[in-house]
Parts: sequence; structure tokens; C-alpha cells
Amino acid sequence: MFQKILIANRGEIACRVAATARRLGIKTVAVYSDADAGAKHVAVCDEALAIGPAPSKESYLRYEKIIQAALATGAQAIHPGYGFLSENEEFADSCARAGLVFIGPPASAIRAMGSKSAAKALMESADVPLVPGYHGENQDADFLRGQADAIGYPVLLKASAGGGGKGMRIVERSEDFEAALKSCKREAINSFGDDRVLVEKYLIRPRHIEIQVFADTHGNCVYLYERDCSVQRRHQKVLEEAPAPGMSETRRRSMGQAAVAAARAVGYVGAGTVEFIANQDGSFYFMEMNTRLQVEHPVTEMITGTDLVEWQLRVAAGEPLPLRQDELSIHGHALEARIYAENPEKGFLPSIGTVRRLRTPAAAHFEPGAGAGAADPAAVRIDSGVREGDAISPFYDPMIAKLIVWGRDRDEALARMSQALAEYQLVGLATNVAFLKRLVESAPYSRADLDTGLIERHRDALFPPAQATALPALALAAAALLDGEGHPGGGDPWAGTGGWRMNGTLVRRLAFSDEAGSQVVELGYQRQGWSLQAGGQRASVALVGREDTQFTLRLDDAVVRGNVVREGETVHVFTGGRHVTLHHGDPLAHAGELEAEGGRLTAPMPGKIVALLTEKGAVVEKGAPLLIMEAMKMEHTIAAPAGGTVEELLYAVGDQVSEGVQLLAFKAA
Ligand code: ADP
Repeated sequence: MFQKILIANRGEIACRVAATARRLGIKTVAVYSDADAGAKHVAVCDEALAIGPAPSKESYLRYEKIIQAALATGAQAIHPGYGFLSENEEFADSCARAGLVFIGPPASAIRAMGSKSAAKALMESADVPLVPGYHGENQDADFLRGQADAIGYPVLLKASAGGGGKGMRIVERSEDFEAALKSCKREAINSFGDDRVLVEKYLIRPRHIEIQVFADTHGNCVYLYERDCSVQRRHQKVLEEAPAPGMSETRRRSMGQAAVAAARAVGYVGAGTVEFIANQDGSFYFMEMNTRLQVEHPVTEMITGTDLVEWQLRVAAGEPLPLRQDELSIHGHALEARIYAENPEKGFLPSIGTVRRLRTPAAAHFEPGAGAGAADPAAVRIDSGVREGDAISPFYDPMIAKLIVWGRDRDEALARMSQALAEYQLVGLATNVAFLKRLVESAPYSRADLDTGLIERHRDALFPPAQATALPALALAAAALLDGEGHPGGGDPWAGTGGWRMNGTLVRRLAFSDEAGSQVVELGYQRQGWSLQAGGQRASVALVGREDTQFTLRLDDAVVRGNVVREGETVHVFTGGRHVTLHHGDPLAHAGELEAEGGRLTAPMPGKIVALLTEKGAVVEKGAPLLIMEAMKMEHTIAAPAGGTVEELLYAVGDQVSEGVQLLAFKAA
């Protein structure tokens, strides 16, 4: 076994790999960009070396630097994590040339699976079922359109070199093909430096089911069952689970065997995932093979009692697989939710900023491999590279954490997931926590009515209209504001006796605004506390206790508990499993501000202008796409907020813009 490894990654996966290495007594070397000098992955490794500026191209993707770092620190092997260099055959080759072990498959297997098109050709010859489509070399636009016409709409365009849903475009009609092809190629060249595409039949209501495979250098290859990753937004996974609901033993075996056949066809070694797209009737087609550890590998670890990073290390060190196929079995059910810095209400736009407050549900310290099979694994696991005070920058993936839960069955796991999400407290940037909670509690997800369109189809239920903040949350916010401000009489404003009063009565008015509008809370001084009135409701309220940010109140006869965190004029209340954001201050002033923001066409985040879809003087309708920005490696369309006239375009294609700058002058009709 190795004595020291270098981890060529950042964030949660670097921390995850380091945890297993530490358990096995292997020393770790971290590498970091200038933006990550203070990052958690640097703190949890034994040594760390700087490799360059923040942009990944100048740091995490510079493999000569990384190989030098490994040689300089005496590391014997490099773990690439996922993303970055994990599926880069040149990097794998360079490691070997430098006498370092690449903890991953042979470069030839990465090459074979690296292009979705080439992989399909290979699988076709190995008799693995494929989605009808064209995956050849001819990239002529008219030819491709002809292929799409022949396949029948809707079709899906994919970047051959693709990953992470980037470049993917659904085309509904022949007339739309050309525009979609352009946009797909543009994103493909930006993200992968390769604009080749393939065309596939777009399946209706499919499920994404993938098989974890593992092979060693002694000719053994096993499958560690399936993961269902059907719940996606923008073709990217949001919730994953293992095993897949409704999977029969026969189908499990045939998919497992097809995956092993795919791995064997390319002489695979190490951890890999064969992705299938499955119809509701159970028929399945090969989509692609990911030649690395997947983000969602923890759900497989939880149900099989394995530590897949330990397996990777053992296999890379030349040891045989720890278990044979007949020694593997499924124990219980596991779910993973990806907690992202993003705004689900605004089309899942990534959000950047600093995590000002982070409280997580109680999770067992991750003990990889603990309780293999016998005892129940820890019920809640959190894999994260982000701590309170850390920033989510525009340079890297906006994932904050992976929340993984285990239960004896799916229902138990679901209940735990919903409880764990309720206990998450994140302040400082927009997150998808509340959305995830609605999603796991939604009827279709609870009854496992899964397919890749679940979120879109249940949009109305998953994005309910904003509701006025309920009395308990308002009472908590008011309590925190009054408690924080001290008090002119010097006494405790909550003390029922003594206290202070003005002419015998005192009414305090606090103005709040939330997504649904503004609310005025009136607090009247009473002998035993205060009377509270808001939105036509009235209750008596008394402060029972306060500990740091946690307040306990009596609201009439009920006890109400919650955490209140102030960020300037914003008050965050966490109570009853919800996060309520209130603005405190003059509600009218605030409403004006919000309106102005909606009318100005500003960059939601730093990025680059990639296309202008309108021109000076154009008269457009509400919702008309005006320009496309690329930020955080994704395209964002800026649309007209109302019908009106484009008065001026302020930037050209290729310009870099910073967050909040005005992009164009627009006059609403
Ligand atoms: P990437 O490598 O960019 O993640 P994949 O090929 O793995 O792309 O596909 C990502 C997701 O896109 C799938 O999980 C599925 O939801 C959807 N998808 C892919 N191919 C099809 C198809 N032919 N029909 C319908 N949906 C598809």
C-alpha cells in the first residue's frame, strides 16, 4: 500500500479521499489554487502545495504542476477525485511517465470511453443496447439535421466530449434544429474545447439508472448494484438513491452484467460507472461510462457497507478486489441530496457569496467502511468541503455539501432526509435546501414515481406561491430584534414586571417584508410579556429563554422555538423546519428597490457575454431572450422583464462582465 498520495482536487471529494487515506494511515498532500489557500481540503491534508491562480485552467487543470508537486513531496500516487483531471487520459499517461500511480483506470480505457460517440460505437459492437441516434464523425449541420429528421422529434443533441449536462439541447421541431445545434456547439467548445456533437432520440419519461462497477488488475470485475439518479434539474442530478425503486432481481442482474461487459470491453481497472437510460417498462440503453468515482458514490457505500475510496487505493496498489460478486449484498436504502448554492426560484441560477452561518443536522463522523454489512451504518452522513465562513466563488462548482441518509427501507430513509434538511441552517447565499425538502416530501417522490422530468412536471407543487410569514416566525423575529436592541429604560424589554412604559402603554411597530409582501407587527406591552398583532391575528407572547441565536417563546399556550440570525436588515428565522427570510425596515423603501432591480437588466453574476439576441431599437415582448451570458460554465439567458424597447446594448460578445453591472438599457412599454 502507498505511504503518501497526492489529491489532485478540491472541495468535498478531496476531503472525502483524505478521510479514507487517514484511516488507512496514508499521508496526504493537497494542492490548492490562490482562491483555496484557506480551504478545508488544505486543512485536512498533511501537506499542501500551491499550484496557481483561481481559474481551474491555471491551477487544478495544470497537470505538469501537479505532477511536480507529487514528485517534490514524495507522493507515490495521485487521486484525481471527479471532474478536473479525473478523465484526462494525457494526465493518466503523464503520471505513469513520471513514475507515479494514477488512481484510476488505464489511459486506454479513459480514451475509449472519453467520447460519448466512440464509446457508443464500441458498445454497439459489444451488443450493449443503445438509444437510436447518430454518433458518427460527419458534423455537417444539414447532414445532422437530416439525421434528426429521420430519427423523429424530439431529439437530444449532446456534446460528444460532454459531461455535467453541458451543451445538451432538446430539439422539438426540425425548424429549431439549427439554432439548437449552434448553441450546443458553442457551449461544447467553451466547456470541453471540442464541438463535436451526437444526436439521439429523446426518450419520454425515462429514468437514469447507473451501475457501479469495480475491476482489479487480476481480472476480477464486479458490480455494486445500481443507483437511481432520475431526479434532475438542467440534466444534472439533484437526488440519488440506491437501490433503484421497483428494480427486480432479474433486471438488476441483467443490467449489472451488461455493465460488467462494458467495463471488460475496455479492459477496465478501478471504480467506474456505467450509465443507462431506462424506459418505464424497464428496457434500458447504454448512455455512457464515467471512468472515475462518481459524486453519488456514498449511497452505494451505505447499502453495501464498503468504502469505495479504499477499494480504489487497494486496486491501484495492485491488490485484488476486497469482495467477490457473491459476497456483495444490499442492506437497506440510501438517499443523497446535493446541497447547492443556487436559486431554484430563478431557474437554479448558481449563487455566490460567503457562508455566514452553517448549522448541520447531527451526522456521524464519516467512518468509511464501518459496520460493513453487520451493523446499521450511520444514519446521516455529510460530505462537504465548505465550512462556516468559507466562500462559494464563481470559479468552481457551487455544491456546498452532499447530505446522505440511510434507512432500513426507503420510507425510513425519506423520513430521515426530510428531518435532516429541516435541521440545515445556511445563511449568506441562496441555497436549494427548502426546494430539496419540498422535493423529498412531494407525492411523486415519496411514492417513487421517478423519471427525469419529475421536477418540471411538478413545477406548480414544487414552487408554491409565496406565503405570508406565519405568526410564530414573526414573533421570533420581533423577539430577536427587541432583545438585540437593549432598551431605553435599561431593563429587559421582556421582563413582565418592573420594566418600562410610556404613559402606561407602549406599542412598538416593526415593519417586515417577505416574498409575499409587507407585514407590520405590533407589540403591545402587557403585565406578563407582550401582546402581538400581525396580519389580523393576535396572541400573547413571552420570552422563555434565549441561548445564543436560539429563542424560546410562549405564544399563547404554545411553546415556539427557533433560531434567528441577523444579517444587516435581513432577519433569518429557522423554525418548524423552515427558513424564513424577512427584511426589516421601511417596507415601502424596500419595495421600490426590488422593483428597480427587476427593471434593470443586470448581470446576475460575473461572467462572459456569449451571444446577443437582440439589437438596438428592437421592440420585444415580455420574456423575449435578449442576450446569453456564460457564468460558472453554464449559459444563462437574460430575458426582457416586460414588453418594451431595447435602447442600448452595453456590451459585445466576448466581453467579461462583473456581477450587478447593467447589461443593456431597456425601456418598458
Ligand atoms: P452528461 O454526461 O452531460 O451528464 P448524459 O449523457 O449522462 O450527459 O445525460 C445526462 C442526462 O440527460 C440523463 O441523466 C438524462 O436525464 C438525460 N438524457 C440523456 N440522454 C437522453 C435521451 N436520449 N432521452 C431523454 N433524456 C436523456
